[in-house]
Amino acid sequence: MARLRLMGAEWVGEASNDAECVIIGGGPAGLTAAIYLARFLRACIVIDGGQGRAASIPKSHNLAGFPDGVSGADLLTRMNAQALRHGARIRSGMAEELTREAGGFTVRIGQQLLRTPTVLIATGVVNHRPAMPPAVHDTAISQGLIRYCPVCDGFEARGMRIAVLGCDAHGAGEAEFLCRYGKRITLLAQNTIDLLDDDRSRLKRLGVEIAESPVRALRIDGPHIIAELERGGELRFDTLYPALGTSPRNRLAAAVGAQVAEDGCILTDEHQQTNVPGLFAAGDVVEGLDQISVAMGQAAKAATAIHNMLRERDEALGAAVGGLSAPSTRSEVDAAEGKG
Ligand SMILES: Cc1cc2nc3c(=O)[nH]c(=O)nc-3n(C[C@H](O)[C@H](O)[C@H](O)COP(=O)(O)OP(=O)(O)OC[C@H]3O[C@@H](n4cnc5c(N)ncnc54)[C@H](O)[C@@H]3O)c2cc1C
Repeated sequence: MARLRLMGAEWVGEASNDAECVIIGGGPAGLTAAIYLARFLRACIVIDGGQGRAASIPKSHNLAGFPDGVSGADLLTRMNAQALRHGARIRSGMAEELTREAGGFTVRIGQQLLRTPTVLIATGVVNHRPAMPPAVHDTAISQGLIRYCPVCDGFEARGMRIAVLGCDAHGAGEAEFLCRYGKRITLLAQNTIDLLDDDRSRLKRLGVEIAESPVRALRIDGPHIIAELERGGELRFDTLYPALGTSPRNRLAAAVGAQVAEDGCILTDEHQQTNVPGLFAAGDVVEGLDQISVAMGQAAKAATAIHNMLRERDEALGAAVGGLSAPSTRSEVDAAEGKG
């Protein structure tokens, strides 16, 4: 059988794969790519560790097509079903290792190795959390007492007493953004107060309060979140936005030489391909506005570029076996199973 390898931008040599694309991460980005690739009749596998950012959304109100809102869990259930219905495979587990080799990549999940000519990294980011017990944190998220995304749900926080945790330029920016919505905005420090004089005077002009003592602990009290201050006293809020930053899950991409920006986000071209041929990235892990609709849009672009890259590979494979255009792996599987 003719075999192909991806060298630079060209297919040469050998190809033998378990999937035409392995998608690492089954959030909105990964599942959108799976839906597209499955509908392009590509054999794709989603590897998903669960517990992504989308899974933690109690109810999203800014996603087009859901006028009454949709929970992250419900959205992911629907997207999983849609991907499976069109023939994608979805596997729970963590992709632990990614290596580059002739013909593409090998992905290790536990003891299993998957070979693939293309990979989409859709692993998202991890929010830096306030110092508090994980169970209390998760309860606060589910009740809207902690929110991570002013762009997403500042609208729902209209008229509230809002705290922003993170007393630096980033926190100051979020506090300023939320002034449009909240009744009263207070900037809290997790550890230290690192505000420039300019930020401080701008916040003062806008009426944002700055708690001059860092927070010692956060707790839930009925419909409120309470900030206990190190120097004594406590403040009561309707909701709190941590502005403590994120860590992009870029380890696997970086391991095969993908370039990342200073903030850790994976750099891609306009088709979502990294500097490593055959390696694509979409969603929060890529630089941009961390939103579901953006993750979906990037994934649609990545999946289409992956499909086009695989079409070139099909042609090269067809030429190598004697001038015929080679069918996709997925078509071959369907035909063998009598579905074609
Ligand atoms: C509380 C909250 C509310 C939000 N509300 C909104 C909203 O209303 N509207 C909106 O547009 N956005 C909202 N967002 C942002 C939104 O959740 C993200 O933009 C979106 O989830 C990004 O999708 P993603 O697929 O890139 O990442 P994620 O949803 O984070 O999914 C990444 C997936 O990759 C998996 N993964 C990571 N590493 C591996 C690995 N090595 N192997 C296998 N799997 C792996 C994770 O387990 C996870 O399932 C909110 C975020 C938070 C935290």
